[in-house]
Amino acid sequence: MTTARETIDALIARSNELGADPANTNYAGGNTSAKGSATDPVTGEETELLWVKGSGGDLGTLEEKGLAVLRLDRVRALKEVYPGVDREDEMVAAFDYCLHGKGGAAPSIDTAMHALVDAAHVDHLHPDAGIALATAADGERLTRECFGETVVWVPWRRPGFQLGLDISAIKEENPAAIGCILGGHGITAWGETSEQAQENSLRIIREATEFLERTGSSEPFGAHDAARAALPEAERRAKASALFPLVRGLASTDAPMVGHWTDTEAVHEFLASEKLAPLAELGTSCPDHFLRTKVKPLVLDLPSDASLEDSVARLKELHEAYRADYTAYYERHAEADSPRSAAPIRRSC
Ligand SMILES: [Zn+2]
Repeated sequence: MTTARETIDALIARSNELGADPANTNYAGGNTSAKGSATDPVTGEETELLWVKGSGGDLGTLEEKGLAVLRLDRVRALKEVYPGVDREDEMVAAFDYCLHGKGGAAPSIDTAMHALVDAAHVDHLHPDAGIALATAADGERLTRECFGETVVWVPWRRPGFQLGLDISAIKEENPAAIGCILGGHGITAWGETSEQAQENSLRIIREATEFLERTGSSEPFGAHDAARAALPEAERRAKASALFPLVRGLASTDAPMVGHWTDTEAVHEFLASEKLAPLAELGTSCPDHFLRTKVKPLVLDLPSDASLEDSVARLKELHEAYRADYTAYYERHAEADSPRSAAPIRRSC
């Protein structure tokens, strides 16, 4: 029989390996879990426990103290008192009554998914390739085309107790499935051993990546626009350092911000593409848990050889419109039932 120590060590090792590659999950995104048993010091009997990554931190550097430890019998019993999706947030407070001992880290909103899915090991990740399918307009059809019966589609629902129940039911209806694509969000994979869960996670990511390479467009950002192509490196650096103080000042209009200059092939390709404007306007593609967080770049829409004076004037003008747009966005989504990040994010690129 596997000891609690072995279960924890395997979970930490798997989490660190999965989290080491940003293509598997974004920084601080995703969570992992393992079910196992340990001796209950009160009764001296074996009791089933769930170790699950708690709130905060990153999978790549997860340590044992970042795990929440819950009693499975009690988490499962929550199904009997669950008042329905309108009051699902009450269940997060109820997790505190399911903790084993002092319980370790604070349980996250994804705890229900890990506890209710009937598999010993569960990985929930936000991989690039998985998000591409999850956020596609026809994601459900693409998921079937890519994976057949092996990976099932779960329609978008905000993370919480109901999403845990949904995934658990879908797993039961699809015994051949190794995981699912969560619409608008990411992936969840499972296995009966830690190795199997990790293999299944990586298999979903690998097959989604191959599918996108095989069936995706060779020019996903549209045709190349020569007027916005990168300047020679020396000119590029000179212009960036001339504009950087202004950009930093604009970004810090409402709160102090730090920033850095990113200069990679992928960025150049995106900036010189036909679809730059509409894609930048869409912002980030993974809404995840912060339903009212919207992160989109401010695009200086001038040819790359535009003069410094023109660039400064246009940046100031664009920034004013950008701030107005953000303020309106947060006012429009000010409903109390919609969780948001700590502060509106204003970023400039
Ligand atoms: Zn997530």
